[in-house]
Amino acid sequence: MKTVKLFEKKTVLSYEVFPPKRTSPVNKIYETIDELKNLQPDFISVTYGAGGGENGSETFRIASAIKNSGIESVAHLTCIGSTREEILEKLTELKHAGVENILALRGDVPKDGCKQGDFDHASDLVSFIKSQGDFNIIAACYPEGHVEAKSKVNDIHYLKAKVDAGADQLITQLFFRNDDFYSFRERCQLAGINVPIQAGIMPVTNKKQIERMASLCGVVVPEKYAAMMEHYEANPVAMRDAGIAYAVNQIVDLIAHGVDGIHLYTMNNPYIARKIYESVHNLI
Ligand code: FAD
Repeated sequence: MKTVKLFEKKTVLSYEVFPPKRTSPVNKIYETIDELKNLQPDFISVTYGAGGGENGSETFRIASAIKNSGIESVAHLTCIGSTREEILEKLTELKHAGVENILALRGDVPKDGCKQGDFDHASDLVSFIKSQGDFNIIAACYPEGHVEAKSKVNDIHYLKAKVDAGADQLITQLFFRNDDFYSFRERCQLAGINVPIQAGIMPVTNKKQIERMASLCGVVVPEKYAAMMEHYEANPVAMRDAGIAYAVNQIVDLIAHGVDGIHLYTMNNPYIARKIYESVHNLI
């Protein structure tokens, strides 16, 4: 099923997982997915190139297993440094695996560069996928602007190009201030971007993790979040629970403001996902 159809009926709730690192037991991810399946996922997405099999085979294997277990799945796919032939091979692999939904991304430019490929931006990948069959295409978006963008106006201009190229729905990068999301949604409306936009929420449960995220993605950490981390830093259980409470608060407010959907970055931690699900599932 194409995940864009889900938005016709309800506020969509989905979870993101990543393939296990080579050093971790591979079965752990399937245990995580089994637990997430009890949390009424509308779909589960699997990241690409983040720790697991770099050529995507692990991503596709996990996405296919999710689909075969009766839950809709989304495979992430990045295009930086890839040729058309390489991407075509991956699309064929996904078709054979029965995966209908692709989160089409450029990917981060490696610090030490990478080989020149056929795709400069995610919009090139979106057009290419569109020309190759009947996939549902999802794209990434950035409420505070992408870290490389010259301005928010510029970023919205390119986001519109990505949607015009064929993206059927969008998922945001994590953010901690809902007002950033609401102004972004308004900018999208003004630009004529009318596809569903899911808010990406990451329950951050340790200080180092949030500091790394903030510097990598250019996400602003609000004063009240910084105070919370300062206060609970020495107590990991309290810190975890404070992170969950903050995420729940964000989600309650987003649903009250008519968000199309919530995409939870689970960090492969089903305990945290379950705690959040238990607090919000009656609101959806
Ligand atoms: P693009 O849409 O190409 O945008 C990148 C930059 O280029 C932006 O600043 C944009 O404004 C600009 N731009 C776009 N088009 C043009 C143009 N025509 N001319 C000039 N400038 C342009 N990374 C992974 O490696 N694996 C993952 O699984 C993964 N999953 C993600 C999931 C989500 C929901 C999100 C939000 C991000 C994810 N990422 C992942 C990170 C992503 O790869 C990076 O943020 C990357 O830097 C940008 O990817 P993009 O698809 O948004 O790129």
